[in-house]
Amino acid sequence: MKLAISYVALSILPLVIFYVTVMAYIESHYLDEREEEMLQSAVVIVNNITRRGFENIAGLTDTPIDISPAMEDFSNDWDMRILVFNEGATVIVDTNIVAMVSVREGQTLIIPEVLYALEGNEIFRLRRETQMLYFAVPVPYADGERFGAVLLVSSAEEIFSSLAEIRSRIFRYSMIAGLAMIVLIIVISNQLIAPVRRMLKVVQKMALGQLNQRVPIKGGNEYAIWGKAFNSMSEKLEQVEKTREEFVSNVSHELKTPLSSMKVLSEAILLQEKLPEEVYREFLRDVVSEVDRMTNINNDLLALVKIDQREQGLNIQLTSINKLVEDILKRLTPLAEQLEIELQYENVRPVQIDADEIKLSLAISNIIENGIKYTPKGGTVKVVVDADHQFVFITVQDTGIGIPEDELDRIFNRFYRVDKTRDRETGGTGLGLSISYSTVVLHGGSIRVNSKLDEGSVFIVRIPIRRS
Ligand code: ADP
Repeated sequence: MKLAISYVALSILPLVIFYVTVMAYIESHYLDEREEEMLQSAVVIVNNITRRGFENIAGLTDTPIDISPAMEDFSNDWDMRILVFNEGATVIVDTNIVAMVSVREGQTLIIPEVLYALEGNEIFRLRRETQMLYFAVPVPYADGERFGAVLLVSSAEEIFSSLAEIRSRIFRYSMIAGLAMIVLIIVISNQLIAPVRRMLKVVQKMALGQLNQRVPIKGGNEYAIWGKAFNSMSEKLEQVEKTREEFVSNVSHELKTPLSSMKVLSEAILLQEKLPEEVYREFLRDVVSEVDRMTNINNDLLALVKIDQREQGLNIQLTSINKLVEDILKRLTPLAEQLEIELQYENVRPVQIDADEIKLSLAISNIIENGIKYTPKGGTVKVVVDADHQFVFITVQDTGIGIPEDELDRIFNRFYRVDKTRDRETGGTGLGLSISYSTVVLHGGSIRVNSKLDEGSVFIVRIPIRRS
């Protein structure tokens, strides 16, 4: 509405300016024309009078001349009222005759134009109130010192009626053009606003929680660009919502399994009477191992949530990566010995980076521990720490079972495990790699993985040495 009103206002303004200037121009044109005509008539009359001698006409000599008939002829020819004044502003001739008598003859009239002419000046004036044109010219006496005056009065009605006709035409056309413009402006502003309205509807629906909304995209204008950005935002929102739902359902699923085994084990003990102590112990050991599993899941979930609290949560310090890896390897040595895996370590160069030591240590530890867990007896896990001037590279290579190629991009997903039944035996929660991934990304780094089934896998962690 605001748009339409401002358009209308803006387009009416030039129309009004156009109208006012054109009318003023036409009026002055008509008046100039009439002034010229009246001037010519005045010249003829003044010549006529001076030729006869104004003193004679004013009755100041012994040979007075009556010029009334001549003036009446002129008056009829030119359709003007002619008045002749002597130097004292007394009317000598008035061609306006009512009932055979010249109306103003013998009267002294105080007419500004005439007084002005008596001083020797010429004047043309339009009297708007009566729509009359006055043209007054001085007429010199023979002595050249005094002036009489001739006043021509003519009607400007014609001019005014022509102007009124033009005005009404312009007004009619402007009204038609103005109406057409308003209709056009309303149509155009509607078209301009329509996409915004559509988007508004979509946004309102999204605000109510219907995240599967998309705006239709037409053409390549700003609205289309906006729409595309909006659609990709709503896709992301939907994705986030889906991931969240999946996550919650995964968590409850993961917790259900240990809970139901605990229930089965406990019921078995309850239902059987007088079992040998050894069997009780056996069952309770199983219950404890399920509780451990739930504790692991819980710890991993807590670690993930902490990483999700974004960068502000990072406690960045100058950290020696070599020492960090050596400490992890020391901690994992008992596990490796238990599973009969050889741990190798190659320290190519010492490197210190900006990192959150505790979080990064957990991230790298997860990857090395996976190498140990997913490598059969007698295999090796080799860890290499290297760096260039920008990045540190931590490579973890195992001779393990490998990961099928089509599953490679999913192993970083939460709760994702390649082989659900087998991986459960290793005690994994499926959260380890997603913790590693989020942590490394939070440090501005990346993880690349190469793997071949039954031959082994390589994880290469790359982290920038300095935080930008
Ligand atoms: P988990 O706790 O089950 O180990 P992770 O998130 O650490 O969960 O790993 C996800 C899955 O990726 C594992 O369940 C396993 O199937 C596969 N995986 C991870 N690392 C390796 C590896 N070095 N060799 C073979 N498979 C691996």
